[in-house]
Amino acid sequence: MSGKKIILVTGSSGLVGHGIRAAIEQEGQREDEEWHFVSSKDADLQDRASTEALFEKIKPTHVIHLAALVGGLFRNLDHNLDFFRINTQINDNVLSTSHRYDVKKVISCLSTCNFPNETKYPINETMLHCGPPHETNFGYSYAKRMIDVQNKGYHMQHGRMFTSVIPTSVFGPHDNFNLHDGHVLPGLIRRAFDSKADGTPFVIWGTGSPRRQFIYSLDLGRLFLWVMREYNEVTPLILSAEADHEISIKEAAELISEAVGYHGAVIQDTSKSDGQFKKTVSNDKMRKYLPDFKFTPFKQAIKETCDWYAANADKVRK
Ligand code: NAP
Ligand code: GDP
Repeated sequence: MSGKKIILVTGSSGLVGHGIRAAIEQEGQREDEEWHFVSSKDADLQDRASTEALFEKIKPTHVIHLAALVGGLFRNLDHNLDFFRINTQINDNVLSTSHRYDVKKVISCLSTCNFPNETKYPINETMLHCGPPHETNFGYSYAKRMIDVQNKGYHMQHGRMFTSVIPTSVFGPHDNFNLHDGHVLPGLIRRAFDSKADGTPFVIWGTGSPRRQFIYSLDLGRLFLWVMREYNEVTPLILSAEADHEISIKEAAELISEAVGYHGAVIQDTSKSDGQFKKTVSNDKMRKYLPDFKFTPFKQAIKETCDWYAANADKVRK
């Protein structure tokens, strides 16, 4: 057998999947890696038979598992049960089928909203199970936490290297710009462009004071390549810029206004939920491995994302 890695990326038609594709394009395909990017069109991973048929066809040695029901605060608020059930099913199918097909390494993707709500800051990887997640996204969070439980179980019982990463709030090209379902930055970008076109005020949902750490999907893509090749701990790895890069939603909206060229009124709709106030994480563990990794400056990444939206407004998810 050749030493070639056969890498299956589930959920690769979305935001993070496109970040990984962009990272591979940037550095060039390696001869010892064969990539397979799939979406729900290739297999419904909620369905066991469909999942097994996909693995039978691709026969992956490595899996980057991104597929999930994903959404921002408002989609989570309405669908906590769906988030728990769908993601639990998808994750169990992908991990158990990976075990059955003797996959050498699986990297799944958790989120910083999976950490406890009542906590000390900055949050680190050891604190994942130390208390209930925020009420607004408990379904998604408990489903994601169970990946870490399964990874530990597969390692202890079967010696598997199934691991996970925990990025902060991701944004970039190919995000979900649906106002109800999507995350904060695509929502703000869409409304800033609409306000510029219509001459209506640019509305920030909530008070604008909650704080977030953001990661550009292209940076996350580069980090995923490193994790796939080099990270060999079962326990999760937080992928984040430094904690002092955290900004308020209001500050993010100001940078978006600047990138879009919107100069009108910015107002808050405080009838909308603020959700979790903050979930500040530490990147100390990541920096021990990658002391020199350079993140794209936030302002530049926002500008690139706004430019991408402007060029693709007729075909984006919304
Ligand atoms: P996304 O843009 O919504 O993409 C979701 C992907 O999952 C799509 O490729 C979708 O396929 C696929 N999918 C959904 N249900 C499926 C099913 N039943 N069978 C097969 N594929 C299915 O999401 P994303 O933002 O890239 O998120 C990717 C991963 O990163 C997720 O695990 C998410 O939890 C995690 N994450 C995201 C963020 C964030 O801020 N976005 C932060 C931390 C972690 P179709 O396109 O065919 O529907
Ligand atoms: P979270 O980070 O998991 O809470 O999810 P989001 O990415 O949806 O961010 C939610 C935060 O952004 C809350 O404080 C919202 O009040 C605020 N926000 C402001 N405008 C928007 C918007 O257009 N969409 C979303 N999803 N949130 C917004």
